[in-house]
Amino acid sequence: GRVDNPYEGAQVYVNPDWSAQAAESGGEAVADQPTAVWLDRIAAIDSGSAGENTMGLRDHLDAALEQGADVLQMVTYNLPGRDCAALASNGELGPEEIDRYKNEFIDPIAEILSDPAYADLRIVNTIEIDSLPNLVTNVGDRATATENCDEMLANGNYVEGVGYALATFGDIENVYNYIDIGHHGWIGWDDNFTATAELLHEAANTAGATVDDVAGFAANVANYGSIEEPYFSIDDTVNGTSVRQSTWVDWNRYADIQTFSQAFREEAISAGFNNDVGVIIDTSRNGWGGPDRPTGPVEGAATVDEYVDGSRIDRRIQQGNWCNQSGAGLGERPAAAPATGIDAYAWIKPPGESDGSSSEIENDEGKGFDRMCDPTYEGNPRNNNNMSGALPGAPVSGHWFQAQFEELLANAHPAL
Ligand code: BGC
Repeated sequence: GRVDNPYEGAQVYVNPDWSAQAAESGGEAVADQPTAVWLDRIAAIDSGSAGENTMGLRDHLDAALEQGADVLQMVTYNLPGRDCAALASNGELGPEEIDRYKNEFIDPIAEILSDPAYADLRIVNTIEIDSLPNLVTNVGDRATATENCDEMLANGNYVEGVGYALATFGDIENVYNYIDIGHHGWIGWDDNFTATAELLHEAANTAGATVDDVAGFAANVANYGSIEEPYFSIDDTVNGTSVRQSTWVDWNRYADIQTFSQAFREEAISAGFNNDVGVIIDTSRNGWGGPDRPTGPVEGAATVDEYVDGSRIDRRIQQGNWCNQSGAGLGERPAAAPATGIDAYAWIKPPGESDGSSSEIENDEGKGFDRMCDPTYEGNPRNNNNMSGALPGAPVSGHWFQAQFEELLANAHPAL
C-alpha cells in the first residue's frame, strides 16, 4: 500500500541531466538538489524532455536505483490541445488526439513504471500543469476566455485525459498522483476556488479513475508565487480599507501560495477527495530575494496600494504574469512535510529552463510564441493588461536560459 506522504523520510532523485547543466552554468551550490523529470512529449519517454535533456524515463529510473533514491518526481504534460490559454507550451497533440494521448503516451509510461524492478521507488507524478484550472477560468463569457480553452472544455479531452492518467497510474501501487491546481493568484478568487475543486473531482471520477488514485495536488508549478507574505496579511486594513481592495490582491482571499494550498486541500476534501490528500508546492523560482526584497512592512502608508506594494516580497508587476519573471530567485530548498497539509516543497520546474521564447523561434515541439514572454508586451485580460515582466532573450520553453538561471541564483531566498 501507499504511505501517506511519499516524501517523508525519503531521499529524492537528483536528475543528472539538470544537475550537470546547473553545475556547468554556475549553479554548483544547488546542482545536488532534486528536480522533476518532465515527460513533455511522446519522444521524451525514450530520449528526454525539451532542450538539452537526453535521458529517457527508463534511464532516470535506473539512475534513481543507482543513487539509492526512494522517490522519483516526474511530470506528465502532453494533453491534447495543451496550454489552451497560452502559446508558449502548445504541444504536439491536436485537440482531438485523445487516443494518441492514451495509447502513445500514458500507456507506454505506465508499462515502464510497472516494471517490478522499480517497485520500491515511490514515483511522484504531477499531472498536466494548468489544464483543469484553464477550463474553469478561461472559458465561456469571461473576459479571459480563449477559443482553445472553450474547445477543450466542449470536447472533454482534458477531463478524459486527466482521468485516464489517474486511473492508469493509479493501478501501479508505487505511483502517487498529484493533480495540478494552479496557484493563489489564479484559483484563489471565490469564483474559481470551489469550481476547481469540483472539476478536479469530476476528472477523478472519469475514465475509470477514483479518488483513491489521487495522492494530492500540485500548486505553483512553474510559477512564481511566494510561500508566504511575511510583511502583510490578507486581514490587514489601512485607514479602514481592507488590503483585499488593493490593486495587487484585487479581492483575492489569499496573498500567498501556502495558505491557498492548505485551504484548497480542505475544499477538495469537501468536494469528495480522501482526507489524507496532501499538496506539493513548487518552490523552484519563488524566492524573491536580492536587494529589492522588502525587510519589513511599509510604515505609515496612506493607502492599501502603498502598503501592499511596499510590503510584498512577490515583486511581479501583476500576479497573472508567468513567463521568465524578472527579479525572481530560487525559493525554499526541497523539503518534506514543511507545513500542515503540505507533503513537500519541491523543485518541479527545473530552474534555468525557459517558460517560453521572448520572440518567435521556429521549433519542432509544437510550441508557439506567447507575447507574455515578450518584455515589451502590454498584456491581456489574463494579467489585467499589465506589462509582462518577462526577461528578454529567452529561448523556447524547456530550453536552457542562462541569463535567467544566473538571476535565480543571485536572488535566491534563502540565499545560497
Ligand atoms: C515546457 C516543457 C518543459 C517544461 C520544464 C514547459 O514549459 O513546455 O517542454 O519540459 O517546461 O522546463
